[in-house]
Amino acid sequence: MVYLDNAATTKPSAAVCSAVMSGLENFGNPSSLHKAGLNAELSVSRSREIIASALGCTPEEIFFTSGATESNNTAIFGAYKAQGKRRKRVVTTTVEHPAVARPVDELEKLGCEVVRISPDENGKFSARDIFSAVNGDTFLVSCMLVNNETGAVLPVEKAFSMIKKKYPEVITHCDCVQGFMKLPVKTKKLCADMLSVSGHKIYAPKGIGALYVRKGLHIPPFMLGGGQEKGFRSGTESVPLICGFGAAVEELMYNISENLEKMRELEKYLFEKCAENGEISVNYAEDKSPYVNSISVKDLKSEVLLHFLEERGVYVSSGSACSKGKKSGVLQEFRIPAQNLDTTIRVSFSVLSSKEDVDRLIEGIEEAQKKLARLKP
Ligand code: PLP
Repeated sequence: MVYLDNAATTKPSAAVCSAVMSGLENFGNPSSLHKAGLNAELSVSRSREIIASALGCTPEEIFFTSGATESNNTAIFGAYKAQGKRRKRVVTTTVEHPAVARPVDELEKLGCEVVRISPDENGKFSARDIFSAVNGDTFLVSCMLVNNETGAVLPVEKAFSMIKKKYPEVITHCDCVQGFMKLPVKTKKLCADMLSVSGHKIYAPKGIGALYVRKGLHIPPFMLGGGQEKGFRSGTESVPLICGFGAAVEELMYNISENLEKMRELEKYLFEKCAENGEISVNYAEDKSPYVNSISVKDLKSEVLLHFLEERGVYVSSGSACSKGKKSGVLQEFRIPAQNLDTTIRVSFSVLSSKEDVDRLIEGIEEAQKKLARLKP
């Protein structure tokens, strides 16, 4: 299998599987006062320390969640509960993942004024545009770091630092799912008050994520119950998943630059192969993460090509996995030409991806170009 759908999810590494297993064996409830509970609590603390150290924050600022969807919902509704009664404006972008976009739509229904910033005519975001949308009535700015459909890197650090200088009370939140452990992400450098990450995009299991909440920022809890995670996120901690998450971060955190270098080479190789073919266009080529690539094959419908490639053992996605074949408004926002929207596939790499994988993909596409019916202009 040539798996090139790593922005959707990744294959857990051997170290992750063994950490999950040890978390299953270490089966005590972290809240129990006996030794079995203490051992489970120690392994949760160890993972929290690893993730905090990777993000350059303190363990007390990391809260485990069921994934980035929960982290984003907690951050957005939490910011509203904390400050949304006094101030009304929320600033975000038009290219956010639904796990940010839908909660923000909900805030709009609750009476907030939402300003959604678009990229310019070249598909690029300006930090100044994001900053300029913020005013004294703003309580939240939520902006993703890496777009999950194009790989575009948004100017979060610049925008958030400008915002924080002029409006220190505005809460800044970053959905970092596609940037975490792929780009060097540090909470302080990013000027983020809250930051969402997910395990399954970085070789950890599905169903585990975390939310960073800056010390001193008071956000009411989203999940109420037994008071776990210092009362911020109730529910018995999933010790096996948390152990797996910690192991995944530990494996990656010292190799971010090295892996990034490898991915840049692979991206370059992919783009060269697309250019050689002549009928494969790269939809978004600059200021991006090399892990996520959006390409279009002239006149070949995405879903048809996806299944053709699948039969040859090559797995890609059409747009974003979360949009399940729905036409992507996000690609239009990035000014991807109209004729490419129906023919876009997303090729997303993992640290295991290789040039041979790219060769198999291109061979598959070239076979499809010979055999499959083309879209009518
Ligand atoms: N945010 C982004 C940018 C994503 O790519 C995803 C998943 O595709 C999510 C949020 C949701 O993450 P999770 O699956 O952990 O809920």
